[in-house]
Amino acid sequence: MNRINPWLIILLVLGVLLLVVNGGFGGAPQVPYSQFQSMLESGQVQSVVLSSNSANVTLKSPQQINLPGGAQTLSQFSTLIPSNAAIPDTSLIPTLEKEHVQFSVQPPNPWPSLLINLLPVLLLLGFFYWIFMRAQGGQSQVMQFGQTRARRFGKENKVSTTFQDVAGHEEAKHELVEVVDFLKYPQRYLAIGAEIPKGVLLVGPPGTGKTLLARAVAGEADAPFFAVSASEFMEMFVGVGASRVRTLFEEARKAAPAIIFIDEIDSIGRKRGAGIGGGHDEREQTLNQILSEMDGFDKSSSVIVLAATNRPDILDSALLRPGRFDRQVTIDLPNLKEREAILRVHTRNKPVSASVDIPEIARATSYFSGADLKNLVNEAALEAGRKVKSVIEMTDFYRALDKITLGLENSSLTVTDQEKRAIAYHEAGHAVTAAVLPGTDRLQKVSIIPRGRALGAAFYLPEEQVLMSKERLENQLVVALGGRAAEESFIGTITSGAADDFRKATQIAKRMVLEWGMGDNFQHMALGSDTGPVFLGEDLAHRKDFSEHTAQLVDEDVKRILDKAYQRSRTLVQQYAQAMHEVAEALLTHELITGDVVRNAVAKLTPAPIGGLGV
Ligand code: ADP
Ligand code: ZN
Repeated sequence: MNRINPWLIILLVLGVLLLVVNGGFGGAPQVPYSQFQSMLESGQVQSVVLSSNSANVTLKSPQQINLPGGAQTLSQFSTLIPSNAAIPDTSLIPTLEKEHVQFSVQPPNPWPSLLINLLPVLLLLGFFYWIFMRAQGGQSQVMQFGQTRARRFGKENKVSTTFQDVAGHEEAKHELVEVVDFLKYPQRYLAIGAEIPKGVLLVGPPGTGKTLLARAVAGEADAPFFAVSASEFMEMFVGVGASRVRTLFEEARKAAPAIIFIDEIDSIGRKRGAGIGGGHDEREQTLNQILSEMDGFDKSSSVIVLAATNRPDILDSALLRPGRFDRQVTIDLPNLKEREAILRVHTRNKPVSASVDIPEIARATSYFSGADLKNLVNEAALEAGRKVKSVIEMTDFYRALDKITLGLENSSLTVTDQEKRAIAYHEAGHAVTAAVLPGTDRLQKVSIIPRGRALGAAFYLPEEQVLMSKERLENQLVVALGGRAAEESFIGTITSGAADDFRKATQIAKRMVLEWGMGDNFQHMALGSDTGPVFLGEDLAHRKDFSEHTAQLVDEDVKRILDKAYQRSRTLVQQYAQAMHEVAEALLTHELITGDVVRNAVAKLTPAPIGGLGV
């Protein structure tokens, strides 16, 4: 139902009131007082009806009168009497009497004063009425609150997304094809006494296409799709969330077979009674409502709930019990092949030049999610559009990539020559160590153009590897610390520019000790036990389920690993001092150089005794 805007009503009422007060539209034409006066004095006026500040005049016979809008023949008109409290006109009535004009006085319009007197009463009445309605509708108000929102749940009766639109994720699709089958042919399963699963949990980092997959399931099954983000259930009032859940499930059941998609289920599905601040009433009630709705599905109603999270480890176990979200589908960041496929999906309907090397872009975008890749394609298209090109070229992709990974070029940042030198040697330190050590990511380019917050950067094309050897990890640490080692060796002072490097290196070293048993003290042990998939790694550092003593040993191990890597970095940059100078000079003149420049500089030196460096 369309609600009528209350302001519209108020405006209408005001308009009508104004009309009443003014005595309506139109009326007799206005004639200037001076003309009226001369007509009066020449004896043409028959009668006058006076009101407070105007007079309605009737003439003895129609007269041609000049008005501002043109001449008119009138026998009746009105005129404004120029009188107010300051200059009362006392001459009119004597003149009327002298000319024997019949005159009378019109009673004043009663409406304005009546309204002014009535207004407070009306306001009071309205106020009481409002209070009364509120009091009466108290309970149902909350219900309505729950329902208004429910209407806004993204409900789509016809979803056009199919599995074709989802690139990669073959395994996930494979699992979800089953769900499509349940929705399409429930009878097949019911007939042999199988229970149709009620919930599927899609687990993965943001932007990997969980929503897209859920939508594709609905599209494939030709079922209506109800999407909601779990955080939308939450309101200030306890009970609203539960009411919204109820409405949502009711609607879905009416439309069955249907898909309900709950995004960010972890925001309400966290372990109950856990965490700081204790239980959250509203959250728990909402969660309970979801659980009881899922339990309450009768066996034949084919409503399937898909829920997305990237934190399955913090979900309440009640959610994961059989009959609820008992199926989990992991959706990881796309690998090289999948990235290529995703790029192809998103460049499908765009004019892309033949020079664009999609596999190359895929290689340069490791750790990009599907959403990131989509954004990249769009940024490239924007770049091309800005230059009024008719096709998107490879350079546009490169520029877009730089913009996304590094932010815009920061031309307002002024760097002194001395700082520039320090930055050049710092980046050369990363670049040369990367070019020398085997098993590190392939150096693509090095730049000392300030972008966003970064003063300089070395870019790598990471190789996709499932297993990381200890040597490879150690070499990565050497490269990460190469910047600082170069500063120390060639500039003499050390700068704050290595903060990010240290953070990255420490994170790797910690995982080596805690997860991968690569520390000296813990060689066969994972201390960060019960950690889910790798993308949850960032929480490891905070989770200390071991003793102070163990923590100390961990710290020792981490420190030892980092110190050793740093020593190797220093040895390397000094050993390759010639190449360091060459690369730094090239950076200072060109600001951006390719990986080949660095590799050439390194190759010129006599084959270094790499084996002697502990590789
Ligand atoms: P999530 O729900 O996991 O956060 P979305 O499903 O909202 O991610 O993904 C955002 C967008 O990224 C999608 O609309 C889609 O355009 C794009 N995308 C993500 N993954 C893929 C994929 N595998 N294939 C094609 N497009 C994808
Ligand atoms: Zn650095």
